[in-house]
Order: sequence, then C-alpha cells, then structure tokens
Amino acid sequence: MQPRALDPVPSDSKKNPPAHEIFKNLSAPRKRKKRDSLPQEGRVSFQEYEELLADRPQKLTAEQVNYRKAEGEEKCRICIHFFTQGGGERRNTCEIFRPENEHVDSEFVCDFVTSDGKKYPLLDKEEEE
Ligand code: SF4
Repeated sequence: MQPRALDPVPSDSKKNPPAHEIFKNLSAPRKRKKRDSLPQEGRVSFQEYEELLADRPQKLTAEQVNYRKAEGEEKCRICIHFFTQGGGERRNTCEIFRPENEHVDSEFVCDFVTSDGKKYPLLDKEEEE
C-alpha cells in the first residue's frame, strides 16, 4: 500500500511566522509564586489545593498556533498534546493551546501537531517550501 501524500498546507496557515519566531515574541512566563510556595513535604491544606488549581498555566491562543479545521490526516486527535478529560462533562484539551470555549475539536489541527514529539509535519512542510 502506497503511503498517502499529505494535503498541502492551506495558504492562510502561512500567515503565521515560523515557530521560533512565535515563541520568541511570547511574553515571559508568569511567575509561579503560589505553586513554588507549596510545601515540598507533608500534606497540603484544602486552601493550598485550591491555590494550585487557580494557578493555571498560560497557554497559546488559536492565532498563535494557527488552529483551524483539519484538511489532511494531521488532526488534534492524533497529537500527543491532545487529552480527553473524564469526569462529568467530557471535553478535549490541549497541553499548549487553550481555546476561548475551552474545548479542542478533535477534527481540527494547528501548526504544532505531532504524533511523536519528534516530527512536526505541518511545520516541516512549511520549512521545505
Ligand atoms: S494539533 Fe495543536 S491544538 Fe491540536 S492537540 Fe496538537 S498541539 Fe494542540
């Protein structure tokens, strides 16, 4: 069986600069006072637990990662950054990107899609051009 060729990168995905440019322009990470101040040993209080949950890590925006409907085989659902949360309300999340509605569509994709953390097919393709 012949491997299928990937669909070309949509022209509107080329409006973003290369990955290293995106990361260079991001603001410095927030200081993690609360998390760093947690005790390193012993049990924590409920208040400390709540402070930990309130200190959500900063993530990238849809524009920064070029999040869009997938047109090829690369999709969020094959990406190592993609997680489905269990519990009452099931929703999909991403390690690096937080959409406004907090739900990542498994049939969408961004420039940083990767199934193994080594190959970034949409970024690699862009660099080849
Ligand atoms: S393709 Fe992009 S938005 Fe989707 S899960 Fe992977 S890193 Fe997150």
